[in-house]
Amino acid sequence: DGQITAGHIELEHIWFRYGEGPFILKDISMNIPPGATAAIVGPTGSGKSSLMNLLMRFYLPTEGVIRIDGQPLERFSDRELRSKMTWVLQDPFIFVGDILFNIRLGDDIGEAEAVQAARLVQADSFIRALPEGYHTPLGERGATLSAGQRQLLSFARAMARQPVILILDEATAHVDSETESAIQQALRTMRKGRTTVMIAHRLSTVVDADIIYVLHQGAIVEQGTHESL
Ligand code: ATP
Ligand code: MG
Repeated sequence: DGQITAGHIELEHIWFRYGEGPFILKDISMNIPPGATAAIVGPTGSGKSSLMNLLMRFYLPTEGVIRIDGQPLERFSDRELRSKMTWVLQDPFIFVGDILFNIRLGDDIGEAEAVQAARLVQADSFIRALPEGYHTPLGERGATLSAGQRQLLSFARAMARQPVILILDEATAHVDSETESAIQQALRTMRKGRTTVMIAHRLSTVVDADIIYVLHQGAIVEQGTHESL
């Protein structure tokens, strides 16, 4: 089985449709070097999430090849993919359990690693301010977190796994400006040293990207840096 070490992502002439439906992705090619940040932008329904589904191997392309570190995606075990490539969802799911459980999610992650990940993304201060800190119960009958806090918690969850590749669906929820700047700072920290593919909604995120891909009706209509576009 293949191993993901550098995080070089290549898509070669990807075509995709759900079942017998219309083509949702049309001849998509991308080359994202190790450690680079790629931003995917485009209107609703343009195929951004579908593209992420293919990267995560939740669906297989109808045509074309996706490679990581030079090897086709099918060469990797589920375990390898799920441990080296982490997807941060737009609206992260909170499980019934305490904060620590929500960071570790039953994976082989120590308490110290979980706390360290929370510190890295600046989630530590709000967690410590909760009645029972890292042991505060969440979910039904537990504490309720704000949208921004849920986002930071999901960042800690992602970082605790130390992924080589980070797939991010940037949240669109409105948060206060203090939380917003914590999120932006956390995003910068998280991207450092790992390949990042993000569905970007904020101009600030787009500006920070090394490569921007503009999707429209399933095709890349523009690509380049923020200066060149
Ligand atoms: P948004 O900005 O609203 O999240 P998006 O760019 O992520 O949009 P996708 O969710 O990838 O767009 O959807 C692209 C197209 O694929 C849409 O026409 C959508 O209706 C269709 N689609 C998405 N998921 C499925 C599915 N599971 N089965 C069938 N069609 C789907
Ligand atoms: Mg989407």
